Amino acid sequence: MSIRVLAASASTALLALSLLAPPAHSRDPAPPVKVPVATGHGGAVSTVDLDASKVALSVLREGGNAVDAAVAAAAALGVTEPYSAGLAGGGFLVYYDAKRRKVFTIDGRETAPRAMTASSLEGIPFNEAVTSGLSAGVPGSVAQWDLALRRHGTISLRRALEPAARLADEGFTVDTTFHAQTSANAARFKDISSTAALYLPGGAPPPVGSTFRNPDLARTYRELARRGPSWLYGGSLGSEIVRTVKSPPVVPGSTRVVRPGLMELSDLSSYRALRRPAVKTSYQGLDVYGMAPPSSGGSTVGEALNILQVLPSVGLHQYLEASRLAFADRNRYIGDPASVEVPLAELLSDGFAKERACLIGDRAMPHPAAPGSPDGSYTPCPTGPPAGKGTSEAPEGPETTHLVVADRHGNVVAYTNTIESTGGNAIVVPGRGFLLNNELTDFTFGPAPGDPNLPGPGKRPRSSMSPTIVLKDGKPLLAVGSPGGATIITTVLQILVNRLDFGMALPEALAAPRASQRNTPATQAEQGFIDRYGAELTAKGHTFTLTPEIGAATALEFLGGGKVQAVAEPTRRGGGSALVVISK
Ligand code: GLU
Repeated sequence: MSIRVLAASASTALLALSLLAPPAHSRDPAPPVKVPVATGHGGAVSTVDLDASKVALSVLREGGNAVDAAVAAAAALGVTEPYSAGLAGGGFLVYYDAKRRKVFTIDGRETAPRAMTASSLEGIPFNEAVTSGLSAGVPGSVAQWDLALRRHGTISLRRALEPAARLADEGFTVDTTFHAQTSANAARFKDISSTAALYLPGGAPPPVGSTFRNPDLARTYRELARRGPSWLYGGSLGSEIVRTVKSPPVVPGSTRVVRPGLMELSDLSSYRALRRPAVKTSYQGLDVYGMAPPSSGGSTVGEALNILQVLPSVGLHQYLEASRLAFADRNRYIGDPASVEVPLAELLSDGFAKERACLIGDRAMPHPAAPGSPDGSYTPCPTGPPAGKGTSEAPEGPETTHLVVADRHGNVVAYTNTIESTGGNAIVVPGRGFLLNNELTDFTFGPAPGDPNLPGPGKRPRSSMSPTIVLKDGKPLLAVGSPGGATIITTVLQILVNRLDFGMALPEALAAPRASQRNTPATQAEQGFIDRYGAELTAKGHTFTLTPEIGAATALEFLGGGKVQAVAEPTRRGGGSALVVISK
């Protein structure tokens, strides 16, 4: 449409105004609908959400780098994907710095309050903990955003929050995913007065197609921009969070048990996002960088790849078995390294991989696989699989969100962030427009003597988040990650296997049907996987349970010569949004 046509239209004044001061998230000619694949130059982004991808794109176009765009997009996701992530959540960020040719990571995982002990969650029904003040961890996201920008970014937190604040003011269009997530949470949202007021206006989920605005969140972002992270970490926003955690605003007359939490303002003021060395694994001559504990992502993806590497061939059977073994070890050994000894180097050693790989035969191994002994002393093939002890995984849901961004300099971010359950702990901080996380449900509830993931004072719960960057000859080849609780690990692993072993193109590697084996008797699988591979794998002794969807991945592939392919899900969780700065 030309300017002349615009001038002739009836709404000239309005249009002219919007041309003069366009909102940052709609300034670019990005398509008005989500597309899952985009290829081009000058920077790229993939998130689950068009608005968030547009925010990242506009930051890139204005000269921001990948970290700037990732933080701005994460804040935007706090508006449009508020049930998956937000400022009161946590996450893990992996960053490739093109100039230094080095991978950095930032741990923004929530922490337990100092008053929490190994028995604090004992005997509490999981479902009751999900909607409680007790499960709210000290938020990590804001400290992580701030640290990422100060270390690796070019813009201030203030600037990075601007587009999200605008998006919260202007609103976004409710899609079927947002509507379905609100409906699925309606029973608990209606019992918390602040949450019902925000997300069940008029007593019901906002209809598909309506515009959802969150002026409280816009104000919160703006005040955070003005006052800085200390407003949360020890300041008055922190006091409001503590008050809400200790005394959740339960609707009078509700019979729901909503336990209060243990968080104090001092827990907030002592919170730190942490820089950690990335976990590195070599696979097929590539370097795979992931997140170190307290995430089990890097070590479990890495161990499974190490196991696959020593097998004579890699197919879906081997993928499932390597994952089974890696999960047995993850469950036994991974916790917050500040609280427990994690034998990370041995878990990722070649000797250990060989010892574990030896257990993989032609048929699915008996359940459960026992953890191995990453003790530095390895026999090429121990006799027969040792008897295992059953593991009980907490239920997994499709929560969380993952984004990837690359800039024109070749810097790359893979960032997974979350408030844990879809809808977090269902408690909106009154007047502030954001939900609290229930990340502490990621701890083992116990009693479980010796479990590395029991709660503890200041401890970070074990995570499965697996933001991953793969380098070839020191340069980025792939960036990938996904939501989905412990299925995050298998989703990332399966995408890597699809791409690197099965030769699928990246869009195909993401779209392919998924299965998740986490040392459980049956493997969770999507219908498409069962239809296509069920018979052949059942003949090898595998059993499957149907699950509607596993993961909602986003990824990048660097095609050489500065060309990048950004990829999102074509259909899972409503499909994602891939954008590039310059197409083709
Ligand atoms: N809390 C999960 C984890 O850290 C992420 C949320 C999810 O996807 O379940 O592993």
